[in-house]
Amino acid sequence: MNGIWLVLIVAAGVFALLYLWFTLFPGRAAPGAGQYFSAAQIEKGRQYSQVLRLLFIGSFAAQTLLLLWLVFGGRAAALSAWAQRSAGGNYWGSILLFFFAVWIMLRLVNLPFRLYGGYFWQHRWGFSTQTMGSWWMDYFKGAGIDLALTTAGALLLFWIISRWPGTWWLAGAAFFSAWLVIQTLLWPVVISPLFNRFVPAKDPAVLGMVQKLSERAHLPVDRVLIMDASRRTTKANAYFAGLGRTKRIVLYDTLLEKYPLEQVEAVVAHEMAHWSRGHIVRGLAFGVMGSLLLWGLLFVLLRFTMPFTLRYPPHTWAVVLLFLLLVSFVSSPLQNRLSRGMEEEADQAAVALTGDVPAAVRLQVDLAAKNLSDVSPPAFIRWFSYSHPPALTRIDIIQKAAR
Ligand SMILES: [Zn+2]
Repeated sequence: MNGIWLVLIVAAGVFALLYLWFTLFPGRAAPGAGQYFSAAQIEKGRQYSQVLRLLFIGSFAAQTLLLLWLVFGGRAAALSAWAQRSAGGNYWGSILLFFFAVWIMLRLVNLPFRLYGGYFWQHRWGFSTQTMGSWWMDYFKGAGIDLALTTAGALLLFWIISRWPGTWWLAGAAFFSAWLVIQTLLWPVVISPLFNRFVPAKDPAVLGMVQKLSERAHLPVDRVLIMDASRRTTKANAYFAGLGRTKRIVLYDTLLEKYPLEQVEAVVAHEMAHWSRGHIVRGLAFGVMGSLLLWGLLFVLLRFTMPFTLRYPPHTWAVVLLFLLLVSFVSSPLQNRLSRGMEEEADQAAVALTGDVPAAVRLQVDLAAKNLSDVSPPAFIRWFSYSHPPALTRIDIIQKAAR
């Protein structure tokens, strides 16, 4: 077995086992948690998160085992031969057939985890406001988009490999980087509206607050949109998305309904901080650097493990998927470290902007309590999978920034 495979598989196995261990045995919450949260709140957050963690690691394990079986169990090569026969020797037809077969298998393997975590578990805790029918509607819509995009991606990959056999990894990184930019630019205006309605904030109190913050930050914030999140969940949240003319701050309608204005202000200030510090562009820059590394590594891996004539056979796709799945899993501590760094910056800048420390702290306490976050997760889980610092850390960051 190639050294790259060995390192990836061993690292992923060790991480997955540690993740499982700390999910099953999370230990005690940090002693400081009791200052802001009741024992019952801490416990409920733990219980709610524990099952989601089990589903996350279970889904990863199921997909990985399926792909390992395909790639190293010889099944992928057999499926590849079937695809070539069925396509009557047409190369692109066989690529498409193989692609669809694996796509369906991965979807089916993943479905129970998605259904349980996204529907049943959410209903059990009173978060979901969706019917079974509307959940399936979302699922099929999402699957359709995924199918269209990954089909295009797979065909493009095989095309660039046959077009530039010696340097396709550079072309791959270039195409992928371009896609990252296009996706950031267009996702909020093309894909997000397929799932939710976005309307500009109209409440004069909210508009006045945004105006005041925008002047203080010297930042022309012209797009604050309210999303009808309540059609799916009772949880509150907000995010910043887009690039150039599609930049926008999105607030869940649940946030406006359930949180007082000074806490909404703390949220808007946080999203404005992402905006003013160019965090989306910074994220893109990390993505471009990462993709160069990723494609270079994939090139080396395929060169050493796959017989290359003029074109790679269809089952190369299973190898590529396994590689991407393992790399994204193994590199998630790094990706999350970068994300947490930006979140920390945004929290600090937001307090400096509003000057309202109690509201910022209250917001973290209320968000964590109402959304049932684990306020003080095990250190390994936080390091491995938290894109935002947990509530207790965020409160600490806010109070340090105030001093
Ligand atoms: Zn943020």
